[in-house]
Amino acid sequence: MFLPRLLVLGAMTAYAGLRLRKHLGQGQAALQPDAKTKAIEDVLEEDPVCHRLVPRKQALTLNRPEGIRYFCSESCRRIFLQPEKEQA
Ligand SMILES: [Zn+2]
Repeated sequence: MFLPRLLVLGAMTAYAGLRLRKHLGQGQAALQPDAKTKAIEDVLEEDPVCHRLVPRKQALTLNRPEGIRYFCSESCRRIFLQPEKEQA
């Protein structure tokens, strides 16, 4: 009588352990992209208008054929987009 109960308990513990390990594995996998994203966000980009270094996370972006441009503010982005005649 005692032995079958122990076997059931053992099986349940093994099953719970397996589920817990699976759950922890998923948690780790979910954390990794977060760390990667944070590393990208910490990258500094130079504003082509005022030459200030702006963190990518806060920067305003503009897609150009030569690549993405990063700006510290909307006014810098506007200056960059404006034709040269308007600045003269
Ligand atoms: Zn700027």
